Amino acid sequence: MKITFLGTGGGRFVMAKQMRRTAGFVVKTKESLIHVDPGPGGLVYLNKLRLKPRRPDAILVSHAHLDHSHDTAPLIELMTDGGRMERGTVLASDSVVNGIDGFIPAFGDYHKNMVERVLVSRPGKKYTIRDLEVTATPTWHDDPTGTGFILNDGETILAYLSDTGYTEELGDAIEKAEPTAIIFNLIFDGEERTSHTNLDTVRSIIQRVKPQVILLQHFGARITMRRMEGFLAKKIEKETGIETIALRDGDVVTLPWFEERTRKIDEFI
Ligand SMILES: [Zn+2]
Ligand SMILES: [Zn+2]
Repeated sequence: MKITFLGTGGGRFVMAKQMRRTAGFVVKTKESLIHVDPGPGGLVYLNKLRLKPRRPDAILVSHAHLDHSHDTAPLIELMTDGGRMERGTVLASDSVVNGIDGFIPAFGDYHKNMVERVLVSRPGKKYTIRDLEVTATPTWHDDPTGTGFILNDGETILAYLSDTGYTEELGDAIEKAEPTAIIFNLIFDGEERTSHTNLDTVRSIIQRVKPQVILLQHFGARITMRRMEGFLAKKIEKETGIETIALRDGDVVTLPWFEERTRKIDEFI
């Protein structure tokens, strides 16, 4: 499994000013290309990768905040060749698909009709997308229908928690999955328990599971402006004894983690 981080920025301020890119990340397995959480820039930076084939097979959207969902419709057009082929899967939260709790849907019927399958992600449910089994995980965040995703290609289990604070329910789901790697959307550097990912979230999860590597991204404005991400990664690594990486825009990570340690993180796009 190869993950390319098209963008590592998070939150409204980083997104609006593009202090870091907010394009999400793509996961490549033997049979699939999956774009996860395409915020503004998702379509642009996926195209810049010049992948062959370039079309995603699925788009996963964890919740309706724009830094996660904005480029869903443009990516549907790429995935379906402008609607000429009815293909691909969109797996997204209820808020993204149906526009509830004050959010408008990220795409309308026009785009829905281009896609082979539109699935609403519900915590605990499993979905099969080509060679991947995707399990939706619960979140505690401003969007009550948001979910994270656990991606399993039979060799590697990648847990992407999305924007969430720690809950027992989330801890249970991650412990059960025994992930190879965990991606944390570390928007804040705080230590208190809140509905956004911070040091408390990372610590609470890592008390329950021991992945090979901890991947930090989705850094908010304070972390980005003060360039704290490297320091925070070192702090987490020291506390947990698990290798912790502060990702940069364009980083490529190959899992399982023990292979080719030096090359994978310096392959910039
Ligand atoms: Zn976010
Ligand atoms: Zn959010």
